[in-house]
Amino acid sequence: MSSISRKVVLVGTGMVGMSFAYSALNQSICDELVLIDLNEVRAKGEAMDLNHGLAFSNSSMKIYFGDYSDCSNADIVVICAGVNQKEGETRLQLLQRNYKVFEAIVPRVVSSGFEGIFLVATNPVDIMTRITYELSGFNAAKVIGTGTTLDTARLRYLLGEYFEIDPRHMHAYVIGEHGDSEFVPWSQAIMAVKPVYDMLEKYPDRYKREDLDRIANEVRTAAYEIIKAKGSTYYGIGMAICRIVRAIFHNENSVFTTSVRLRGEYGLRKEVFIGNPCIINSNGANRILELKLTDEELEKFKASYDILDESFNSIS
Ligand code: NAD
Repeated sequence: MSSISRKVVLVGTGMVGMSFAYSALNQSICDELVLIDLNEVRAKGEAMDLNHGLAFSNSSMKIYFGDYSDCSNADIVVICAGVNQKEGETRLQLLQRNYKVFEAIVPRVVSSGFEGIFLVATNPVDIMTRITYELSGFNAAKVIGTGTTLDTARLRYLLGEYFEIDPRHMHAYVIGEHGDSEFVPWSQAIMAVKPVYDMLEKYPDRYKREDLDRIANEVRTAAYEIIKAKGSTYYGIGMAICRIVRAIFHNENSVFTTSVRLRGEYGLRKEVFIGNPCIINSNGANRILELKLTDEELEKFKASYDILDESFNSIS
């Protein structure tokens, strides 16, 4: 962390960015929050609106509309700028358009002298994180994507309902692309202290493999469902970003399935950013936790990895 006062710059004050900002204010996760958007009028309006809530919060956060020079002494730059998914559109289809957006953002952040941590939420998030890494020239540990953090939260919520246990005690992860090829490595899923596979074996009338598959599918298609119902998704991801920012500021060593650059895990090359459990602290993506996947799960992970690599290479 570069400064005593915890400073975050948010680039992209749309629905996702402002859901993060609203959570950040309510949870008082930083001391300074700067809002930047192509639509300056909107960013100014959002700063005013949030400031008017300060009197009702427990925070004395400084919130203001700014520009890229404000990144120079920021600890974290959160990027939520870009185009969002339309009904029926895959996250990968967003890629070309959002690449152009990032070309207009990342070099300007770097030119300010910024030396903190990039946290990317824009979709397709794994590839946008890799693009941020490439455009910034930063150390990979300092470039993090939200990856499948939200999907993992969705999974835990649904498993909590199914096994009737607090989601915080469901240790299960969604890994791979934040998108259609993501999957749940059930061999690694644990209900508090009991492996989920043991639960299926012990209570075959109550817990079934088909139900787990249904839950995994529900997680994978949740975004499509929400987009169909209300146009876009933002509260969940806003809170996920907030949670990761807190882990960075508090040097927590907390584990999230963020999008991180592999360091040879699973015998794979290093370039790809992909969702995998990772220890996050004030240095960013500190340690990647390689899971002991079954052969079938490893195949799925590799398939997801290939999709992300091919999509990145398809950028013109
Ligand atoms: P939005 O349209 O509400 O907001 C996007 C904002 O980006 C707009 O305010 C726009 O003016 C701004 N912007 C566009 N180009 C810019 C530029 N060059 N410089 C600065 N600002 C620019 O969209 P949203 O609903 O907030 O979604 C934002 C992104 O988050 C999308 O890519 C969406 O798919 C993604 N998303 C990610 C997750 C996740 O789990 N990672 C979940 C939901 C949404």
